[in-house]
Amino acid sequence: MRKKNYLALLLVAACLLCSCNSGDKPEETPKQTTTKKEETTTAKKDDKIDLDSLEKGISDSFMFGCDVSTLITQENSGVIYYNEAGEEQDALKTLADNGVNMIRIRVWNDPYDENGKGYGGGNCDTDNAIAIGKRATQYNMGCMIDYHYSDFWADPSKQMCPKAWKDMSVDEKSEALYEYTKESLGKILEAGVDVKVVQIGNETTSGMAGESNWKNIAKLMNSGSKAVRELSAQYEKDIQIAVHFTNPEKGKYSSYAKTLATNEVDYDIFASSYYPFWHGTLANLKKELGGIVEKYGKKVMVAEISYSYTLEDGDGHQNTIYDGAWGTFDYAMSEESQVKVVKDCVETLSELGEYAAGICYWEPAWIPVPEKDGVTRSELWEQYGSGWASSFAAGYDPKDAGQYYGGSAWDNQSWFDFTGHPLSSISTYKQIKEELQK
Ligand code: CA
Repeated sequence: MRKKNYLALLLVAACLLCSCNSGDKPEETPKQTTTKKEETTTAKKDDKIDLDSLEKGISDSFMFGCDVSTLITQENSGVIYYNEAGEEQDALKTLADNGVNMIRIRVWNDPYDENGKGYGGGNCDTDNAIAIGKRATQYNMGCMIDYHYSDFWADPSKQMCPKAWKDMSVDEKSEALYEYTKESLGKILEAGVDVKVVQIGNETTSGMAGESNWKNIAKLMNSGSKAVRELSAQYEKDIQIAVHFTNPEKGKYSSYAKTLATNEVDYDIFASSYYPFWHGTLANLKKELGGIVEKYGKKVMVAEISYSYTLEDGDGHQNTIYDGAWGTFDYAMSEESQVKVVKDCVETLSELGEYAAGICYWEPAWIPVPEKDGVTRSELWEQYGSGWASSFAAGYDPKDAGQYYGGSAWDNQSWFDFTGHPLSSISTYKQIKEELQK
């Protein structure tokens, strides 16, 4: 997740830690996803994969994803999305028509206060995932369900325990996580959502669900995996399980993967965030993810990526990328750069051939909500949860949401302009697929 002060928090944390340095489908895919699961979970050290021998290119199952978790709250706030012809159209259809084949949706356990007021950021509960997921399925897109195992944003700066699990021991929390995943994912599947991937934790670099000890985190992750595997079998699906880390520039992915292996965490995909302005070079990303493929035989993917097309702010809530923002901006701020950033990343992933599972653009439809009839934007954010946080999140997250709640810090990284019309970058994946097929 990204929001206004995330960058500042990261900077502070980084300084404290003294780490400011801070094509075609292969003709044959001998190890299909469906058969690789068993092998990869039991991969041994001496079963190293020779990266040089991999046939480059992306597989037919490569996921070209978008995370649109705030979509429903945007629509409830009065946002209207249009297609390229200027007609009103479901943003999900426009995305599907432009080559998106997977929709990622984050899920928070209980993003509401004691009076039932939503914390914002899309009020992303299970019902929200069902509502978005059913529409995505209708347009033949698969879904990636992203469990944060928190009641609100989980990222490197915070991994807060859900309210309901607060006083539990690790064993009790582990059981609660299993039951919660079983119930939530069960409802999503029962509703007919075509779930392809489930993430057990979000950017779990510093912990998960209030735990920071890796034995405990691994125990929780395995409870999530167990629930996913059971439901996958029950619904006769082949749901892939993803772990998700970030900050590849810190060079720690091998140590995370080793910890996961030591603690026998059951997963299929090692996912990374990759925001090019924060997360180092693509060469480094390839080294980090390639190491996971080489040593552990896991699939890899980029679960979050995005770029800015303008320095303008559309809703009065400061954007993460603004004039003078901290980061490395090697690409110009433009719609063309939005495409190029993703294309360069897909090309990098394609060097890992069949082990590259996909890429996912983060929140390309999170645009300004429209002020009209005397209703202010902040009133809409509060009422519908369309800003990154509402004031109602203050009790749960006093230091961050409690102080900085407001609108979208991402409206200049969208694939729609401030009035809901598609930018040329809406066709990012279509353009990439066409180039790969040349
Ligand atoms: Ca903004």
